[in-house]
Amino acid sequence: MKATEIVKVDPNSPDIDEIKRAAAIIKAGGLVAFPTETVYGLGADGLKADTVDKIFLAKGRPQDNPLILHVASPDDILRVATEVSPIVDKLVQLFWPGPLTLVLPKQSHVPDKVSAGLPTIGVRMPDNIIALTLIAESGTLLAAPSANLSGRPSPTLASHVADDMWGKVDLILDGGPTRLGVESTVLDLMEDPPRILRPGSVTREELEDVLGHVEAQILKDERPFLRQVRPGGKYPHYTLDIPFFLVEGEPQAVIRRIQEEAGKYRSQAKKVGVMCSEESKGQYLGCADVIRSLGSRHDMTQIAAGLYRTLRDFETCNVHVLFAEGFSERGLGFAVMNRLREAARSRIIYAC
Ligand code: AMP
Ligand code: MG
Repeated sequence: MKATEIVKVDPNSPDIDEIKRAAAIIKAGGLVAFPTETVYGLGADGLKADTVDKIFLAKGRPQDNPLILHVASPDDILRVATEVSPIVDKLVQLFWPGPLTLVLPKQSHVPDKVSAGLPTIGVRMPDNIIALTLIAESGTLLAAPSANLSGRPSPTLASHVADDMWGKVDLILDGGPTRLGVESTVLDLMEDPPRILRPGSVTREELEDVLGHVEAQILKDERPFLRQVRPGGKYPHYTLDIPFFLVEGEPQAVIRRIQEEAGKYRSQAKKVGVMCSEESKGQYLGCADVIRSLGSRHDMTQIAAGLYRTLRDFETCNVHVLFAEGFSERGLGFAVMNRLREAARSRIIYAC
């Protein structure tokens, strides 16, 4: 068990001495959790196999689930990828710093542990001053998966990291709530056309404006290779300690179905939670015990930002079962629905 410390850091103008202290921990082979614009990351020196090992151990992450390397500047790509095509340059210009991870051919000196034995490496430059200063001060690239126990919803508050990682990391930098709330889009540039392995805040539509057609179909029974590299393809993700049902369909049909299902549980004296849009929350008064709105269904940025926090909050509400409304898959809705389906797994109800 490690002695974990948590320090508050101003996200707009971080105290450089605190960041230098965090960087010294990284250089000494330790683990530092830090905010990014997507979710909190669990950072270690990504160019050393033994420090990377510590990440897998702390998270309980399967060794065959690759890590993303985080860079402080686009030039750092050349330290780990063998080639940077004009397309990569273009994507970097348009989307970095930001929530887009590029999967590129890996240089041989990058530990195989990081890429889980794959010949490729995922690279991203986060859009967060604390993260960028920490990477630059560490003088290396940070391997940094989401700072949750493997299989849990990603942390969007430092307190989520503390809940999952206390005693397992050296330091947690608390930079407040993360802005976007869902993990980066992972784009595999080894395929032609490129393939979205994980949808995120950089949308398929935005990528297609630059690249033309992009493969984005997320299938459960894809080739074994994709099952390994696609988040959620092989291991359960975003699991809660209460049964979680996702109800998809037209909004009115979804509301009716959740009301019906909630009624069945309540007739057995079970407490029911509902996670829904601002527009429909009034529809569940009297038929659910805990109702939480994620925001307007017309503002997916708000829905995404509060998604993991709300899921984690439901675990402390003493409900026996949780129903969530589905959303449109347009734009950022694609990423939100991907996470909700991963969380629900086989408990998806199609309302008609
Ligand atoms: P996390 O950092 O926990 O959000 O997870 C990172 C995800 O990025 C992994 O689960 C992988 O699916 C994906 N990823 C990272 N590196 C690669 C790679 N070299 N090839 C394909 N996917 C990758
Ligand atoms: Mg993760």
